[in-house]
Amino acid sequence: MSNSKDLQKILVANRGEIALRIMRTVREMGKKSVAVYSDVDMNMPFARYADESFPLHGKEARETYLHADEIIRIAAEAGADAIHPGYGFLSENSEFAEKIERAGLTFIGPRPATIASMGDKTEARKLVASYGVPVVPGTSEPINDRSEAVSVANRIGYPVLIKAAAGGGGKGMRLIRNESEIEDGIRSARSEAKSAFGDGRIFVEKYLVNPRHIEFQILSDNYGNVVHLFERECSIQRRHQKVVEETPSTALTPEQRTEMSDAATSAARACGYRNAGTVEFILSEEGKYYFLEMNTRLQVEHPITELTTGIDIVREQIKIAEGRGLELRQDQITQTGHAIECRIYAEDVYNGFIPDTGRLAALREPAGPWVRVDSGVETGSELSVYYDSMIAKLSVWGSDRGDAIRKMTRSLEDYLIAGVRTTIPFCRFVMLSDAFRSGKYSTHFVEDLWSDSKQLSGPPPDEEIRLALILAGAIRGNGLEEVNNHDDVSRKLARPRWLDKRFED
Ligand code: ADP
Ligand code: ADP
Ligand code: MG
Repeated sequence: MSNSKDLQKILVANRGEIALRIMRTVREMGKKSVAVYSDVDMNMPFARYADESFPLHGKEARETYLHADEIIRIAAEAGADAIHPGYGFLSENSEFAEKIERAGLTFIGPRPATIASMGDKTEARKLVASYGVPVVPGTSEPINDRSEAVSVANRIGYPVLIKAAAGGGGKGMRLIRNESEIEDGIRSARSEAKSAFGDGRIFVEKYLVNPRHIEFQILSDNYGNVVHLFERECSIQRRHQKVVEETPSTALTPEQRTEMSDAATSAARACGYRNAGTVEFILSEEGKYYFLEMNTRLQVEHPITELTTGIDIVREQIKIAEGRGLELRQDQITQTGHAIECRIYAEDVYNGFIPDTGRLAALREPAGPWVRVDSGVETGSELSVYYDSMIAKLSVWGSDRGDAIRKMTRSLEDYLIAGVRTTIPFCRFVMLSDAFRSGKYSTHFVEDLWSDSKQLSGPPPDEEIRLALILAGAIRGNGLEEVNNHDDVSRKLARPRWLDKRFED
């Protein structure tokens, strides 16, 4: 294309695994990368991987990865010609995108106006509905008071969900089962939205029971070409946030897949979309789908799409930002096999999934054919309270779903992390559950199957013992059978004093 311009040096305005993931593709494309890092991230792998790194003074996100002006100043100082925002932080901040363009740099993402319109869930609902995309029954104007909410709820029927217009990351949502809960729901959703997003506007949506979250990956260039890279099934969630994702979804018929992908590309056209984005839908038990929202950025779970399509989404993002036309035509994009991602968070899954912090005393990541680990840490890394508690993403590809489940189960068993509690035992439970294996599950998986299971009685000490024994070389294999034999374990643990040594700093 005539008005394309090669980018030479890209600043990544993010941290952890996603910063590394972006910088790897930047390097493969023969370009230079620039990292910015907070005080606590100085020694993190992403800060060392970049060709150049600059400090953002402070620890809190507000003073560092959310400090738009300082990041843009560093980009100019480093001679970078573009900024990739990753996900979270400033990735969906239209002012940031605008400032970057005003500074004469390229923002690797959509146009600022698109970010603004899609970042407002009520605006987005109106816009895509005008293009014939079904939206969840409810309001597309913010609710001002209790009586407005009551009349909407009476029209669409209980249960309803009060949601923040500016919502994200599962925040600002309240389930309302009957009229008596509306008052409190409005108040708490509003105050959570105000503190999380600086915007207290709320609206009301029909709450779907036992739904599935299915989203479509979109790519579009500056010239109006839009393609989709199929769907991702993201129904295994806690706190309305995803933990396990897979593609293809077991819930869709080929006809539904075609219909929803058409709706997704229509939604992208409705907002004049440019770059990579995701259109999220909710699928009812009866098989009806509705638009939820559009995420105007690279998505956490993009690796499973890359594994099944062979397309490097970050590479496409950079090429689009360079002004190149999409080379991919829809009929050339095919999905092969099956991929699953498990998000490895530092969380206590036996105790309400509350975030855990600490030092990674030991770490052994899984590997092997078709196993992909997007990790931002190494042995000795500190997981602080300042940022998201995600340690890594484990993704596998299999020739079919059964193969992918077997690879994921094996990889989870091979994954050894000592020092913090993680979501690994939960992910393993998912892989072994009948619900997941049969493909018949919904967003209620955690509350229906995990919370009620005997898992709640507390973490089995076996897991910690297993890690200790394997890392110390005291047992062979994955140790899953041996740790259940407590006599044997105590004998082995009683023996080596050097085991303690291995866990010292
Ligand atoms: P995805 O939709 O890509 O799976 P998540 O919902 O898990 O993403 O969120 C991705 C990251 O972005 C997380 O770190 C989350 O905390 C953060 N995030 C998402 N939306 C917002 C928002 N509106 N404001 C602040 N952080 C957000
Ligand atoms: P966020 O911006 O926080 O990601 P979403 O609108 O994408 O908010 O919703 C996040 C999750 O909350 C969904 O994946 C789904 O599990 C649940 N959810 C959202 N809206 C509804 C609804 N109308 N009915 C049932 N569950 C919903
Ligand atoms: Mg969402």
